[in-house]
Amino acid sequence: MLKNRALIPDLRQGLADLDRKIAFCPLCYRALEQNGEKGAYCMLCRDTKRNSRQIAVVEKEADLQNLEKTGSYSGLYHVLSGLIAPLDPNSPKGLHLKELHERVNNLLEKERKCEIILATGTTTEGDMTALYIERILAPLKNKFPELKISRLGRGLSLGSELEYADEVTLKNALTNRK
Ligand SMILES: [Zn+2]
Repeated sequence: MLKNRALIPDLRQGLADLDRKIAFCPLCYRALEQNGEKGAYCMLCRDTKRNSRQIAVVEKEADLQNLEKTGSYSGLYHVLSGLIAPLDPNSPKGLHLKELHERVNNLLEKERKCEIILATGTTTEGDMTALYIERILAPLKNKFPELKISRLGRGLSLGSELEYADEVTLKNALTNRK
């Protein structure tokens, strides 16, 4: 017990170091190991072979990794860093929603068309978040009719979290998005 307690300051220092080392991609908000220059985009965002007119909106990095594993998605991502909690009116504030709106707006001004794939799962929180995003992006659709907002949902059973969906299910959910 005493021995474990002695570890606490170390752990705190370790966490503080980690905090300093973690940087986020300023475009998609994935966590990055800070070895490149500050403010640099992550490897996925820098990959010119990927379809920059497609953005899959996910709750967290693990969901992104799961979609990557399917090998059937070649667009970019936007990590929200959480979902909207039904009973917490402040919960949208902590998510990268404003950044998403700005990103989609910039993309549309440049490319005129893009597809936003809402991949937030089929839980209550995931549903609410997807609806919220559809609502905040709706005004952009008036300005840019070629904005397509689709949802990854079909093929995912109700209450599914992306993190736990298997590859085949996710692949189907991607192909059958609407
Ligand atoms: Zn990125």
